[in-house]
Amino acid sequence: MKHLTILGSTGSIGTQSLEVVRAYKDKLEITALAAGNNVELMEKQIREFHPQKAVMWSETAAKQLKEKVSDLSVEILDGMEGLLEVSTMPQTDVVLTAIVGMIGIRPTIAAIENKKTIALANKETLVTAGHIIMPLAKKMGVPILPVDSEHSAIFQSMNGEKREQVSKILLTASGGPFRGRTRKELENVTVEDALKHPNWSMGRKITVDSATLVNKGLELMEAKWLFDTELDRIQVVVHPQSIIHSMVEYADGAIMAQLGTPDMKLPIQYALFYPDRLPMEGERVDFYELSRITFEKPDKETFKGLDLAYKAAQKGGSMPTVYNAANEKAVALFLDRKIRFLQIAEIIEMSMEHHNVIENPNVEQILLTESETYDYIMQRMES
Ligand code: NDP
Repeated sequence: MKHLTILGSTGSIGTQSLEVVRAYKDKLEITALAAGNNVELMEKQIREFHPQKAVMWSETAAKQLKEKVSDLSVEILDGMEGLLEVSTMPQTDVVLTAIVGMIGIRPTIAAIENKKTIALANKETLVTAGHIIMPLAKKMGVPILPVDSEHSAIFQSMNGEKREQVSKILLTASGGPFRGRTRKELENVTVEDALKHPNWSMGRKITVDSATLVNKGLELMEAKWLFDTELDRIQVVVHPQSIIHSMVEYADGAIMAQLGTPDMKLPIQYALFYPDRLPMEGERVDFYELSRITFEKPDKETFKGLDLAYKAAQKGGSMPTVYNAANEKAVALFLDRKIRFLQIAEIIEMSMEHHNVIENPNVEQILLTESETYDYIMQRMES
């Protein structure tokens, strides 16, 4: 039996992870769950999965939850203290990080320090603190198993191969809902347009990130850390059908790829049972039905977020934090209908130009850079 803590259990990845747990109740047990504000769903999850502890980020939400589950023995915690506690419980074997944003950094570090295996969906953690997390995981002998579908595909394509014989990582991208559009055509797109992802069903923030290609930018940095690869060996390839989830090219020119229908449960289940492959219900790729799979270069002129990610990653230090924080703030403003779609990349660029890089930032400096970036954007919005 594997014992799991899920951070972000009420979100898109969190609920799909619980579907995997539901299918394998004899192999997976929930020790703790954590979420932000969704008390109603957390109550349902507690009643179904019986965790020993549950965390709500806000104190008010935790109080409400405590009342709702007062008939049960579950302990309800709140805030960062709660997140740290459930990430380090002696009973937990695996911490699945499906929280959104840099809030995941501290719990992930604490989990690694306590030798928990990490199933990592929360890419912002690696993007901003990869230089802390990867060496720490190595030192503690803790595996970081990717949940992100592309990184899971890369990981699967490296199974049994020698890492030093990899010549290139081919990171595939669907291109999002606006693939093929010009900047002119994107001037007035709405929140609803941006939330219509052609292939994947995901949380709102990451869906907008897919539309801007910032998600691919974040994934580029995630891949750099996870697979210890130089940036110029990671090539983004647009593949609109999302059947090939990413590929790895080797020194002899051979290319390994992982294919499948777009369903996040597969990479989640793979991370939870690695190295085993367990049966999973669901659609299969039918190569008679699949008439064609196609590939394109990303349109970096229209979707400036991707090049900005290369720049942020090349600069390194605190610059990826600025890229990520500026994007988070800009996406929130876009979802609130306060800025237009194309302004998301403009805000990231403006924030990166304003920032003086800190080399090798520690966690405090990363979090300070995050809040300074938010403040800078709000000041500029008000002026
Ligand atoms: P969602 O927005 O759907 O879910 C986010 C989860 O985090 C919710 O459970 C939310 O709780 C919780 N949360 C937010 N803030 C806090 C906080 N301060 N403390 C505790 N919990 C918090 O996001 P996704 O599931 O889409 O994405 C999660 C992560 O996985 C992101 O880093 C994303 O980039 C990555 N990812 C997502 C994929 C996808 O298919 N969705 C694919 C690959 C990676 P509540 O709702 O209760 O407030």
